[in-house]
Amino acid sequence: MKKLIFIADINFKASPRVRDRLMTEVVDDYAERYKKREKLPPPVLALVDDGVLVCVDGMHRIHALKKNGQKAVECEVMKCTPEMALREALGSNRTHGLRRSNDDKRRCVDAALMQWPDKSNLAIAQLVGVDDKTVAVIRKEMEKSGHLDKEVVRKDTKDRTIKPRESRPDGDPVDCTGCVIPKEIRGTWEEADSVGMELENSVMSAKSALTAAQKDNDILFAEVNFSAAIGDLEKAWKAVQAVSPYAVCPTCNGFPSLQPKGCGMCKGRGFISKFRWDTVVPADLKKIRKKSAAEQKEVG
Ligand SMILES: [Zn+2]
Repeated sequence: MKKLIFIADINFKASPRVRDRLMTEVVDDYAERYKKREKLPPPVLALVDDGVLVCVDGMHRIHALKKNGQKAVECEVMKCTPEMALREALGSNRTHGLRRSNDDKRRCVDAALMQWPDKSNLAIAQLVGVDDKTVAVIRKEMEKSGHLDKEVVRKDTKDRTIKPRESRPDGDPVDCTGCVIPKEIRGTWEEADSVGMELENSVMSAKSALTAAQKDNDILFAEVNFSAAIGDLEKAWKAVQAVSPYAVCPTCNGFPSLQPKGCGMCKGRGFISKFRWDTVVPADLKKIRKKSAAEQKEVG
C-alpha cells in the first residue's frame, strides 16, 4: 500500500542493517536525479509488531529526498514482523539496487545469523546471496567473540524445544535418535535440512502475518477467513516438515542403494522425517535403534 510518510516518523535505528554505511556519494547522486524529476522506485517501509516504522529498502533514496528538503516521502508500506522485515531487506538488497561491498555482505550475514542462529550455513548463504563457506567463517568468529551462542535452542510452532543435533566426540554428526549419519548421505541430509528449514520458515511467516492481522483487526484482511487460513497453513507446515531429515532410515540404515528393490521406508533418501519416524517405524525397530545408539556412544 502506498502512503505518504513523514521522514521523521521512520525509525532508522531499528531498521534492518543490511548496509555497512550510508554512502554519501550515492545520496548526492540520487538527490541530483530527484531534482531533475527522475522517477525512482518508492522506498519500502515495514510497520513491525510494535507499531514501529522501519526502512527495508531505499535508505539512500530517503536520505536523498531529505537532503533536497523534503519532509515526507511516498513509500510502499507493509505490515509484518521484524523477522519478515529483515527477510525483505536481505532480499531486496541481494536482488537490486547498489552493488554490495564485502562489508555490506558481512553486515547481512551478521544480521541473518543473529535472527536465525539455528539455520544451516547453506540456508543463510542462500538468504543473503553469499558463499556458504563465508557464512561458516563468520559464524565461527561470532561464536568466538560471544555474539552468537553455540548452543542454539530450536522451537517448533507449539513452542516446544527441538533437540539440537549433536556430534560425537570424533566429529561424526548424528541424527535425532543418536545414530551416526553415514558419509554417503550427509550431503543430501544437509541439503534437505536447509531446504526444509527454508520452507518451514516461509509457511510460518505467512502464519504469523495472518495472526498479527487478526489481532489488529486489519481492514486489509476483511475478507480473510482467519481460522480456516491459519488451519491450512498449520497443515502446510506439517506437510513441508516431511522434507526435513530426522533419523537415518531404520530399514536400510542409510544405504538405500544396497536394497535390491530399493528402500520402501525412506524411498531412497536414506533418512526419514520425524512424522514418518513417529507414525510408521515399528516399536521394535525403534528399540534396536536406541540400543545401538547407546553402544555407539560408549564406543565414541
Ligand atoms: Zn531406507
